Amino acid sequence: MEMIPFNKPYLSGKETEYMVDAVNTGKISGNGKYTKLCQQFFEDKYGFNRCLLTTSCTDALEMAAILANIQPGDEVILPSYTFVSSANAFVLRGAKIVFADSYPNHPNIDHTKLEGLISDKTKAIVVVHYSGVACEMDAIMDIAKKHNLIVVEDAAQAVDSYYKSKPLGGIGHLATFSFHETKNIISGEGGMLVINDDRFTKRAEIIWEKGTNRTAFFRGETDKYSWMDIGSSFLPPETVSSFLYAQLENLEDIQRKRIHIWEWYYNSFKPLADKGLVKLPELLDHATNNAHIFYLVLPDLDTRSRFITHLKANKVHAVFHYIALHTSPFMEENENRSALTHAEDFTDRLVRLPLFYELTDADLAYICEQVHAFFNT
Ligand SMILES: *Cc1c(COP(=O)(O)O)cnc(C)c1O
Repeated sequence: MEMIPFNKPYLSGKETEYMVDAVNTGKISGNGKYTKLCQQFFEDKYGFNRCLLTTSCTDALEMAAILANIQPGDEVILPSYTFVSSANAFVLRGAKIVFADSYPNHPNIDHTKLEGLISDKTKAIVVVHYSGVACEMDAIMDIAKKHNLIVVEDAAQAVDSYYKSKPLGGIGHLATFSFHETKNIISGEGGMLVINDDRFTKRAEIIWEKGTNRTAFFRGETDKYSWMDIGSSFLPPETVSSFLYAQLENLEDIQRKRIHIWEWYYNSFKPLADKGLVKLPELLDHATNNAHIFYLVLPDLDTRSRFITHLKANKVHAVFHYIALHTSPFMEENENRSALTHAEDFTDRLVRLPLFYELTDADLAYICEQVHAFFNT
Protein backbone atom coordinates (compact mmCIF):
# COMPACT_ATOMS: atom_id res chain seq x y z
CA MET A 1 0.00 0.00 0.00
CA GLU A 2 1.16 3.51 -0.83
CA MET A 3 1.28 6.32 1.71
CA ILE A 4 -1.98 8.27 1.92
CA PRO A 5 -0.73 11.83 1.44
CA PHE A 6 -1.84 14.74 3.56
CA ASN A 7 -3.00 16.65 0.49
CA LYS A 8 -3.45 15.99 -3.19
CA PRO A 9 -4.38 18.76 -5.64
CA TYR A 10 -7.70 17.95 -7.28
CA LEU A 11 -8.48 18.78 -10.91
CA SER A 12 -12.24 19.09 -11.18
CA GLY A 13 -12.43 18.64 -14.99
CA LYS A 14 -12.02 21.65 -17.25
CA GLU A 15 -8.80 23.16 -15.85
CA THR A 16 -6.53 22.29 -18.78
CA GLU A 17 -9.28 22.91 -21.33
CA TYR A 18 -9.70 26.48 -20.08
CA MET A 19 -5.93 26.96 -19.94
CA VAL A 20 -5.71 25.97 -23.61
CA ASP A 21 -8.58 28.34 -24.36
CA ALA A 22 -6.73 31.15 -22.58
CA VAL A 23 -3.64 30.43 -24.66
CA ASN A 24 -5.70 30.34 -27.86
CA THR A 25 -7.26 33.74 -27.19
CA GLY A 26 -3.77 35.18 -27.60
CA LYS A 27 -3.80 37.05 -24.28
CA ILE A 28 -2.12 35.22 -21.45
CA SER A 29 -1.04 38.15 -19.25
CA GLY A 30 -3.35 39.31 -16.44
CA ASN A 31 -6.77 40.99 -16.19
CA GLY A 32 -8.26 39.22 -19.22
CA LYS A 33 -11.37 37.12 -19.77
CA TYR A 34 -10.80 34.50 -17.05
CA THR A 35 -9.58 36.98 -14.43
CA LYS A 36 -12.81 38.91 -14.94
CA LEU A 37 -14.92 35.72 -14.82
CA CYS A 38 -13.34 34.68 -11.51
CA GLN A 39 -13.73 38.13 -9.94
CA GLN A 40 -17.33 38.30 -11.16
CA PHE A 41 -18.01 34.84 -9.70
CA PHE A 42 -17.08 36.03 -6.20
CA GLU A 43 -18.81 39.38 -6.56
CA ASP A 44 -22.05 37.67 -7.68
CA LYS A 45 -22.06 34.64 -5.38
CA TYR A 46 -21.00 36.37 -2.16
CA GLY A 47 -21.91 39.99 -2.86
CA PHE A 48 -18.30 41.17 -2.40
CA ASN A 49 -17.96 44.81 -3.44
CA ARG A 50 -14.82 44.46 -5.57
CA CYS A 51 -12.46 41.52 -6.09
CA LEU A 52 -8.97 41.59 -7.60
CA LEU A 53 -7.18 38.32 -8.33
CA THR A 54 -3.56 38.23 -7.17
CA THR A 55 -0.70 35.80 -7.58
CA SER A 56 -1.09 34.66 -3.96
CA CYS A 57 -2.80 35.45 -0.67
CA THR A 58 0.59 36.73 0.45
CA ASP A 59 0.45 39.31 -2.35
CA ALA A 60 -3.12 40.24 -1.46
CA LEU A 61 -2.00 40.81 2.15
CA GLU A 62 0.83 43.02 0.90
CA MET A 63 -1.70 45.05 -1.07
CA ALA A 64 -3.87 45.29 2.05
CA ALA A 65 -0.91 46.60 4.07
CA ILE A 66 -0.24 49.29 1.44
CA LEU A 67 -3.93 50.23 1.32
CA ALA A 68 -4.11 50.43 5.12
CA ASN A 69 -1.32 53.00 4.73
CA ILE A 70 0.89 51.26 7.27
CA GLN A 71 3.92 53.43 8.12
CA PRO A 72 7.09 52.50 10.02
CA GLY A 73 6.30 52.31 13.73
CA ASP A 74 2.58 51.66 13.28
CA GLU A 75 1.25 48.71 15.23
CA VAL A 76 -0.77 45.88 13.75
CA ILE A 77 -2.52 43.31 15.94
CA LEU A 78 -2.76 39.74 14.69
CA PRO A 79 -2.96 36.22 16.05
CA SER A 80 0.30 34.46 16.80
CA TYR A 81 -1.16 31.16 15.62
CA THR A 82 -1.13 31.88 11.88
CA PHE A 83 0.94 31.63 8.72
CA VAL A 84 3.94 33.97 8.37
CA SER A 85 2.36 35.91 5.50
CA SER A 86 -0.33 37.38 7.77
CA ALA A 87 2.51 39.15 9.60
CA ASN A 88 5.18 39.56 6.90
CA ALA A 89 3.01 41.75 4.70
CA PHE A 90 2.84 44.35 7.47
CA VAL A 91 6.46 43.93 8.61
CA LEU A 92 7.48 44.80 5.03
CA ARG A 93 5.85 48.23 5.54
CA GLY A 94 7.69 48.77 8.83
CA ALA A 95 4.90 47.80 11.18
CA LYS A 96 5.45 46.51 14.65
CA ILE A 97 3.47 43.32 15.15
CA VAL A 98 1.51 42.92 18.36
CA PHE A 99 0.55 39.29 18.77
CA ALA A 100 -2.79 38.20 20.23
CA ASP A 101 -3.51 34.83 21.77
CA SER A 102 -6.01 32.20 20.60
CA TYR A 103 -9.05 31.13 22.58
CA PRO A 104 -8.42 28.24 25.00
CA ASN A 105 -10.70 26.02 22.89
CA HIS A 106 -10.16 27.38 19.38
CA PRO A 107 -7.14 28.62 17.42
CA ASN A 108 -8.92 31.85 16.34
CA ILE A 109 -7.92 35.25 17.77
CA ASP A 110 -9.43 35.81 21.23
CA HIS A 111 -11.52 38.94 20.69
CA THR A 112 -11.85 39.53 24.44
CA LYS A 113 -8.10 40.26 24.61
CA LEU A 114 -8.02 42.77 21.74
CA GLU A 115 -8.77 46.02 23.50
CA GLY A 116 -5.91 45.44 25.94
CA LEU A 117 -3.49 45.35 22.97
CA ILE A 118 -4.61 48.58 21.33
CA SER A 119 -2.37 51.65 21.69
CA ASP A 120 -2.40 55.07 20.02
CA LYS A 121 -0.08 53.58 17.37
CA THR A 122 -2.43 50.74 16.41
CA LYS A 123 -3.58 51.00 12.79
CA ALA A 124 -5.08 47.63 11.92
CA ILE A 125 -6.29 44.27 13.17
CA VAL A 126 -5.70 41.21 11.01
CA VAL A 127 -8.01 38.32 11.80
CA VAL A 128 -7.47 34.79 10.52
CA HIS A 129 -10.44 32.44 10.16
CA TYR A 130 -8.58 29.30 11.15
CA SER A 131 -9.72 26.19 9.29
CA GLY A 132 -12.38 28.33 7.63
CA VAL A 133 -14.23 28.90 10.91
CA ALA A 134 -15.26 32.52 11.49
CA CYS A 135 -13.72 34.81 14.06
CA GLU A 136 -16.14 36.73 16.30
CA MET A 137 -16.62 39.42 13.65
CA ASP A 138 -19.39 41.54 15.22
CA ALA A 139 -17.31 42.20 18.33
CA ILE A 140 -14.13 42.72 16.28
CA MET A 141 -15.78 45.23 13.91
CA ASP A 142 -17.23 47.10 16.91
CA ILE A 143 -13.80 47.37 18.55
CA ALA A 144 -12.28 48.52 15.24
CA LYS A 145 -14.96 51.16 14.79
CA LYS A 146 -14.52 52.47 18.32
CA HIS A 147 -10.73 52.83 17.86
CA ASN A 148 -10.81 53.79 14.16
CA LEU A 149 -8.86 50.72 13.00
CA ILE A 150 -8.85 48.88 9.70
CA VAL A 151 -9.82 45.22 9.80
CA VAL A 152 -8.21 42.84 7.32
CA GLU A 153 -9.69 39.34 7.15
CA ASP A 154 -7.06 36.80 6.25
CA ALA A 155 -9.65 34.49 4.70
CA ALA A 156 -7.01 32.29 3.03
CA GLN A 157 -8.74 29.19 4.38
CA ALA A 158 -12.27 30.54 4.41
CA VAL A 159 -13.75 30.21 0.93
CA ASP A 160 -17.51 29.52 1.06
CA SER A 161 -17.80 29.88 4.81
CA TYR A 162 -20.08 32.15 6.80
CA TYR A 163 -20.42 34.18 9.98
CA LYS A 164 -24.07 34.63 11.00
CA SER A 165 -25.05 34.17 7.33
CA LYS A 166 -22.50 36.76 6.13
CA PRO A 167 -19.85 35.30 3.82
CA LEU A 168 -16.32 35.41 5.24
CA GLY A 169 -14.18 37.82 3.29
CA GLY A 170 -17.13 40.22 3.04
CA ILE A 171 -17.03 41.69 6.54
CA GLY A 172 -13.65 43.39 7.15
CA HIS A 173 -12.64 46.57 5.29
CA LEU A 174 -10.33 44.35 3.24
CA ALA A 175 -10.02 40.58 2.91
CA THR A 176 -7.65 38.12 1.29
CA PHE A 177 -8.09 34.61 -0.11
CA SER A 178 -5.63 31.92 -1.16
CA PHE A 179 -5.84 29.45 -4.02
CA HIS A 180 -2.59 27.69 -3.15
CA GLU A 181 -2.76 23.99 -3.93
CA THR A 182 -3.31 23.16 -0.25
CA LYS A 183 -6.58 25.13 -0.08
CA ASN A 184 -10.15 24.05 -0.99
CA ILE A 185 -10.19 25.87 -4.35
CA ILE A 186 -6.84 25.97 -6.10
CA SER A 187 -4.80 27.34 -8.99
CA GLY A 188 -1.35 26.15 -7.95
CA GLU A 189 -0.39 29.52 -6.53
CA GLY A 190 -3.07 32.18 -6.45
CA GLY A 191 -5.00 34.62 -4.33
CA MET A 192 -7.50 37.44 -4.24
CA LEU A 193 -7.98 40.78 -2.54
CA VAL A 194 -11.52 41.77 -1.62
CA ILE A 195 -12.22 45.45 -1.14
CA ASN A 196 -15.36 45.82 0.95
CA ASP A 197 -14.78 49.45 1.92
CA ASP A 198 -15.16 51.33 -1.34
CA ARG A 199 -12.84 54.17 -0.31
CA PHE A 200 -9.97 51.75 -1.09
CA THR A 201 -11.16 50.55 -4.50
CA LYS A 202 -9.55 53.13 -6.78
CA ARG A 203 -6.18 52.94 -5.08
CA ALA A 204 -6.32 49.11 -5.00
CA GLU A 205 -6.69 49.00 -8.79
CA ILE A 206 -3.64 51.25 -9.15
CA ILE A 207 -1.43 49.31 -6.72
CA TRP A 208 -2.50 46.09 -8.49
CA GLU A 209 -1.31 47.43 -11.86
CA LYS A 210 2.25 48.40 -10.84
CA GLY A 211 1.18 51.81 -9.57
CA THR A 212 -0.46 52.85 -12.84
CA ASN A 213 -4.05 53.72 -13.70
CA ARG A 214 -4.13 51.13 -16.49
CA THR A 215 -7.37 49.55 -15.23
CA ALA A 216 -9.20 52.89 -15.51
CA PHE A 217 -7.53 53.46 -18.90
CA PHE A 218 -8.86 50.12 -20.21
CA ARG A 219 -12.34 51.10 -19.06
CA GLY A 220 -11.96 54.27 -21.13
CA GLU A 221 -12.03 56.56 -18.09
CA THR A 222 -8.73 58.27 -18.97
CA ASP A 223 -6.97 58.84 -22.31
CA LYS A 224 -3.51 57.69 -21.16
CA TYR A 225 -2.11 55.67 -18.34
CA SER A 226 0.49 57.02 -15.98
CA TRP A 227 2.46 56.28 -12.84
CA MET A 228 0.10 57.34 -10.04
CA ASP A 229 1.29 55.66 -6.84
CA ILE A 230 3.45 52.87 -5.44
CA GLY A 231 2.50 49.42 -6.66
CA SER A 232 3.82 46.11 -7.85
CA SER A 233 3.10 43.19 -10.14
CA PHE A 234 0.18 41.58 -8.35
CA LEU A 235 -1.87 40.17 -11.25
CA PRO A 236 -1.93 36.46 -12.04
CA PRO A 237 -1.66 35.49 -15.71
CA GLU A 238 -4.69 34.17 -17.59
CA THR A 239 -3.05 30.72 -17.64
CA VAL A 240 -3.64 30.67 -13.87
CA SER A 241 -7.05 32.37 -13.69
CA SER A 242 -8.40 29.99 -16.36
CA PHE A 243 -7.42 27.04 -14.13
CA LEU A 244 -9.09 28.77 -11.18
CA TYR A 245 -12.31 29.37 -13.09
CA ALA A 246 -12.72 25.65 -13.75
CA GLN A 247 -12.42 25.05 -10.01
CA LEU A 248 -14.98 27.73 -9.19
CA GLU A 249 -17.48 26.13 -11.56
CA ASN A 250 -17.22 23.01 -9.39
CA LEU A 251 -17.12 24.74 -6.01
CA GLU A 252 -20.33 23.12 -4.74
CA ASP A 253 -19.20 19.62 -5.65
CA ILE A 254 -15.77 20.17 -4.08
CA GLN A 255 -17.33 21.52 -0.90
CA ARG A 256 -19.86 18.66 -0.68
CA LYS A 257 -17.06 16.11 -0.87
CA ARG A 258 -14.83 17.85 1.67
CA ILE A 259 -17.70 18.18 4.14
CA HIS A 260 -18.45 14.47 3.71
CA ILE A 261 -14.84 13.64 4.64
CA TRP A 262 -14.80 16.08 7.56
CA GLU A 263 -18.02 14.69 9.03
CA TRP A 264 -16.80 11.12 8.62
CA TYR A 265 -13.75 11.93 10.76
CA TYR A 266 -15.79 13.87 13.30
CA ASN A 267 -18.29 11.05 13.81
CA SER A 268 -15.60 8.39 13.94
CA PHE A 269 -13.63 10.23 16.64
CA LYS A 270 -16.59 11.32 18.76
CA PRO A 271 -16.16 8.29 21.08
CA LEU A 272 -12.47 9.21 21.57
CA ALA A 273 -13.48 12.74 22.52
CA ASP A 274 -16.17 11.43 24.87
CA LYS A 275 -13.49 9.43 26.67
CA GLY A 276 -11.27 12.54 26.90
CA LEU A 277 -8.52 11.07 24.69
CA VAL A 278 -8.67 13.80 22.05
CA LYS A 279 -10.38 17.12 21.50
CA LEU A 280 -12.47 17.56 18.35
CA PRO A 281 -12.67 20.86 16.47
CA GLU A 282 -15.00 23.16 18.38
CA LEU A 283 -18.25 23.84 16.50
CA LEU A 284 -19.13 27.49 17.01
CA ASP A 285 -22.73 28.73 16.91
CA HIS A 286 -22.00 31.75 14.75
CA ALA A 287 -19.84 29.94 12.19
CA THR A 288 -20.24 27.44 9.37
CA ASN A 289 -17.65 24.78 8.62
CA ASN A 290 -16.17 24.78 5.10
CA ALA A 291 -14.12 21.63 5.79
CA HIS A 292 -10.80 23.23 5.00
CA ILE A 293 -8.92 21.38 7.76
CA PHE A 294 -9.79 18.43 9.95
CA TYR A 295 -7.73 18.60 13.11
CA LEU A 296 -7.52 16.91 16.49
CA VAL A 297 -6.03 18.37 19.65
CA LEU A 298 -4.03 15.72 21.51
CA PRO A 299 -3.15 15.79 25.22
CA ASP A 300 0.47 16.97 24.78
CA LEU A 301 3.43 17.33 22.43
CA ASP A 302 4.79 13.88 23.21
CA THR A 303 1.48 12.15 22.42
CA ARG A 304 1.23 14.12 19.20
CA SER A 305 4.73 13.10 18.10
CA ARG A 306 3.97 9.45 18.81
CA PHE A 307 0.61 9.80 17.01
CA ILE A 308 2.24 11.21 13.85
CA THR A 309 4.93 8.51 13.94
CA HIS A 310 2.32 5.77 14.43
CA LEU A 311 0.28 7.01 11.44
CA LYS A 312 3.38 7.36 9.30
CA ALA A 313 4.41 3.79 10.09
CA ASN A 314 0.92 2.80 8.90
CA LYS A 315 1.16 4.84 5.70
CA VAL A 316 -0.94 7.85 6.70
CA HIS A 317 0.60 11.30 6.46
CA ALA A 318 -0.70 13.49 9.31
CA VAL A 319 0.90 16.87 9.99
CA PHE A 320 1.05 19.49 12.71
CA HIS A 321 0.48 23.13 11.81
CA TYR A 322 1.76 26.57 12.81
CA ILE A 323 4.61 27.33 15.15
CA ALA A 324 3.25 30.34 17.05
CA LEU A 325 4.89 33.34 15.37
CA HIS A 326 5.80 35.13 18.62
CA THR A 327 8.19 32.22 19.35
CA SER A 328 9.86 32.34 15.91
CA PRO A 329 13.57 33.17 15.49
CA PHE A 330 12.61 36.23 13.42
CA MET A 331 10.40 37.63 16.19
CA GLU A 332 12.89 36.95 18.97
CA GLU A 333 13.77 40.66 19.04
CA ASN A 334 10.16 41.78 19.23
CA GLU A 335 9.83 43.84 22.43
CA ASN A 336 6.29 42.74 22.83
CA ARG A 337 7.18 39.12 23.22
CA SER A 338 5.31 37.47 26.04
CA ALA A 339 3.81 34.06 26.65
CA LEU A 340 0.68 33.35 24.67
CA THR A 341 -0.40 30.14 26.31
CA HIS A 342 -3.13 29.01 23.96
CA ALA A 343 -1.24 29.74 20.72
CA GLU A 344 1.69 27.75 22.14
CA ASP A 345 -0.69 25.00 23.15
CA PHE A 346 -2.05 24.60 19.59
CA THR A 347 1.54 24.72 18.31
CA ASP A 348 2.30 21.63 20.40
CA ARG A 349 -0.94 19.70 20.34
CA LEU A 350 -2.84 20.24 17.10
CA VAL A 351 -2.56 17.65 14.31
CA ARG A 352 -4.22 17.61 10.88
CA LEU A 353 -5.43 14.52 9.02
CA PRO A 354 -5.49 13.97 5.24
CA LEU A 355 -8.33 15.89 3.58
CA PHE A 356 -8.60 16.05 -0.20
CA TYR A 357 -11.27 15.38 -2.80
CA GLU A 358 -9.99 12.03 -4.00
CA LEU A 359 -9.86 10.47 -0.54
CA THR A 360 -12.21 7.47 -0.79
CA ASP A 361 -14.52 6.06 1.87
CA ALA A 362 -12.18 3.04 2.01
CA ASP A 363 -9.24 5.40 2.70
CA LEU A 364 -11.28 7.13 5.39
CA ALA A 365 -12.24 3.86 7.06
CA TYR A 366 -8.59 2.84 7.00
CA ILE A 367 -7.31 6.15 8.46
CA CYS A 368 -9.92 6.07 11.22
CA GLU A 369 -8.98 2.48 12.04
CA GLN A 370 -5.33 3.53 12.42
CA VAL A 371 -6.29 6.43 14.69
CA HIS A 372 -8.42 4.16 16.88
CA ALA A 373 -5.59 1.61 16.97
CA PHE A 374 -3.28 4.28 18.39
CA PHE A 375 -5.68 4.84 21.29
CA ASN A 376 -6.41 1.09 21.61
CA THR A 377 -10.09 1.65 21.01
C1 LIG B 1 -2.28 29.65 2.95
C2 LIG B 1 -2.32 30.85 3.84
C3 LIG B 1 -1.70 32.05 3.49
C4 LIG B 1 -0.80 32.19 2.29
O1 LIG B 1 -1.44 31.96 1.10
P1 LIG B 1 -0.57 31.99 -0.26
O2 LIG B 1 -1.63 32.01 -1.31
O3 LIG B 1 0.24 30.72 -0.27
O4 LIG B 1 0.26 33.20 -0.25
C5 LIG B 1 -1.85 33.15 4.32
N1 LIG B 1 -2.56 33.07 5.45
C6 LIG B 1 -3.16 31.93 5.84
C7 LIG B 1 -3.97 31.92 7.10
C8 LIG B 1 -3.05 30.76 5.05
O5 LIG B 1 -3.63 29.64 5.44
